[in-house]
Amino acid sequence: MSLKLALAIVTLTLCVLFLGSYRRTRSLYSACWCVALGCWLVGNAAYWLKGTDWTWAANPFGNALLVAGAFGVWAGFRSLRGLRAPLWPFLVAPGATAFASFLETSTDGVWPGGLVYFVSMAVGMALAVRELAMLKSPASQAHRPLLVVAAILVGYFGCRAVVYLVDGPTSEILSSFFSPAITCMLLLMLLVLVSFSMTVLSNDQLITALNERASRDGMTGLLNREAFMELAGRELAAAQRTGAVAAVVLADLDHFKTINDTHGHSAGDAAIRAFAAACEGSVRRTDLVARYGGEEFVILLPGADEVAAGAITAEISRRLAAAPAPDGLSFPTVSYGIASTPCSGPSLEDLIQTADEALYQAKAAGRNRAFNVAGQVAAGVVSDPAMGGQNARTGVIRGSV
Ligand code: GH3
Ligand code: MG
Ligand code: MG
Repeated sequence: MSLKLALAIVTLTLCVLFLGSYRRTRSLYSACWCVALGCWLVGNAAYWLKGTDWTWAANPFGNALLVAGAFGVWAGFRSLRGLRAPLWPFLVAPGATAFASFLETSTDGVWPGGLVYFVSMAVGMALAVRELAMLKSPASQAHRPLLVVAAILVGYFGCRAVVYLVDGPTSEILSSFFSPAITCMLLLMLLVLVSFSMTVLSNDQLITALNERASRDGMTGLLNREAFMELAGRELAAAQRTGAVAAVVLADLDHFKTINDTHGHSAGDAAIRAFAAACEGSVRRTDLVARYGGEEFVILLPGADEVAAGAITAEISRRLAAAPAPDGLSFPTVSYGIASTPCSGPSLEDLIQTADEALYQAKAAGRNRAFNVAGQVAAGVVSDPAMGGQNARTGVIRGSV
């Protein structure tokens, strides 16, 4: 009884603390723990219904809410990886537990619905352990002790399920080695560790989210210029260490101002978003695409020479031309400037500078094409809607690069 009371007080205190943390930070981790602790608090309270007119509800509610709490713990740890837990396990596992507990309430079983409850708790905690094991948290190692205690709980509930199966619900082993008192102590250990790591882990989550937001362009979701310079600088250095080539592409939408002037700013925004989507659809996972500013974009293609970069620009333009445009709007064509290592200098700034010169030449040569600094056409161009498709040249490479 004392242990149960202590567990209830610790659970309530932590629940209030997590609620405060959630209101301050809006962290999903805090919200999930708030829900999990709430479930455990009410679930444990439900067992007090035994011996009243509501005895039939004690085990179904108690067991189901404790299981829901375990899945809440899973959802909390999952949120640390930036992932949301699907809803169905929250309905299926507690639902099955409540159902089994309800069916068995009238039998002589010591723990009605015990088997489903033990298995569900073990599964919920095992999922939580999996999330913690997959968590790459360079900011802190606060999750490690939690992982250990959660793993102990998986073993504990797993063993309870096995003993229940093998030795039956009235097993001596169940009531001695796996008594509610032991469960209380293990849960207390988990809660103490959770309170210890609460601030660190929800701050980790917040910092990750803020970093992500600070490195993205709000309109397109692409990297912003600052993040690109940092990441691309690192990628380029890595490519140079291994002697691999890399190419930089600067892209600028053609006559973009005319779109704004003719169709309005929202049409211009739609064109910018469509171009960003065309880029993302055309590059590999290892490439970096960023909005460089306004209607200009920059792409780093590790491992690509100028010919390969030219082919990618052709693919981007093809995708943009094929993208569905809002009523009355034709997406603009695009000019590209391409530079690659080693001929355009070693640093990222050098490459961008050279690509900019090439872009200037592409514009001067009539737009809707990709140039390198030698001035030759590096890739085929697609039909310019502004010219009724008359200048369609869809070959990938024209001339030598
Ligand atoms: P060029 O072919 O020589 O590149 O001509 P351009 O009209 O594309 O280039 P210019 O630099 O004259 O105009 C770029 C325009 O892009 C001016 C600016 O108002 C517009 N712009 C920049 N950022 C945004 C944005 O986020 N949304 C919209 N709708 N327009 C933008
Ligand atoms: Mg421009
Ligand atoms: Mg432009």
